[in-house]
Amino acid sequence: MSKELKSRSAIVKNFATLLVKWQRQYGRHDLPWQVSLDPYSVWLSEIMLQQTQVATVKEYFFRFMQKFPTLKDLARASNDEVMSLWSGLGYYSRAKNLHACAQRIAKDYKGEFPKTVLELQELPGIGPSTAAAITSLCFGSREAILDGNVKRVLTRVLTFSGDMTSATHVKNLFQMAQQLLPDKKSDMPAYTQGLMDLGATVCTPKKTSCANCPMSKICISHRHQTVENFPVRTKKIKRSAQSISLLMFRNAKNQIYLEKRSANGIWANLYCLPAFESDQALLNDVPAQSRKEPFFHAPFLHVLTHKDLYLHVVEIKNAKPLLKQTGQWLTPKEWQLMGLPAPIRLLLLNESKH
Ligand code: SF4
Repeated sequence: MSKELKSRSAIVKNFATLLVKWQRQYGRHDLPWQVSLDPYSVWLSEIMLQQTQVATVKEYFFRFMQKFPTLKDLARASNDEVMSLWSGLGYYSRAKNLHACAQRIAKDYKGEFPKTVLELQELPGIGPSTAAAITSLCFGSREAILDGNVKRVLTRVLTFSGDMTSATHVKNLFQMAQQLLPDKKSDMPAYTQGLMDLGATVCTPKKTSCANCPMSKICISHRHQTVENFPVRTKKIKRSAQSISLLMFRNAKNQIYLEKRSANGIWANLYCLPAFESDQALLNDVPAQSRKEPFFHAPFLHVLTHKDLYLHVVEIKNAKPLLKQTGQWLTPKEWQLMGLPAPIRLLLLNESKH
């Protein structure tokens, strides 16, 4: 048998055993959603953890569990309540799908999470890896997860050189991930959690902690000292930039005028200052008697993952209603309870201190 094949068969033979043992001894056991490992809390945490760090998610997770202790509570909530509670966590399509998913489970499954990956994947916002995380952690199903952290661990252990921006290579890696699963269903929760823990705390993107890794004896990239070469990603994410002019309309009662944004596009379903393509387009929409003394705030930058937003705020005090009124006037107490995009909330909070 070639050296390469020997290394790979050692990985297939030992990976799960090493990982399960390590997770039980050194893995994370105090995450709030690990207390009961019921599908509702695991699902909620999995959706929140997409694109967001554990430290931030914990705070939001507690808030959601307090307000919506069960899936049925979440399903019954209004869209505004959900968006308001999600406000600041970003990637708002997650909140929209979360709500839609809770309503589907309440309606089609009598409030009980389906137990198979196939059924779960049919639900809004649940992809293959999230479905596998729910079924393996909660029901002990032998299903492989493959999120960004896991791709990093597996490509390094196996020196898998396929490009992770190609669906075919991801599919190949997924097949390998299935071969590594433990035989016993009872090991699945520790195995899945172990993969998440390893990717988050040991096999990190930078400053990888190979000396403390349970895989150090079988990890091929560690042996060859090529850890930094994995995972392979050839396509760079294209960044774009967008300017948005925002109308901060304040009336004599110190109320701010906010509009609910449409269900698509940036800041979907959130309450926001009226947004325009340019300052000129903004001023065209303001009645002549209110247009006299606009105050142009210094533009500020808000960075999203794929986009830089340059926000230009035009403030008009003692305003009369807009030409086309579709929003509502809200006091500081009222708007603080609504779902607002993070930069708008911050802007209004700062302004209210002046
Ligand atoms: S040995 Fe190093 S590169 Fe390999 S899985 Fe562990 S931390 Fe990652």
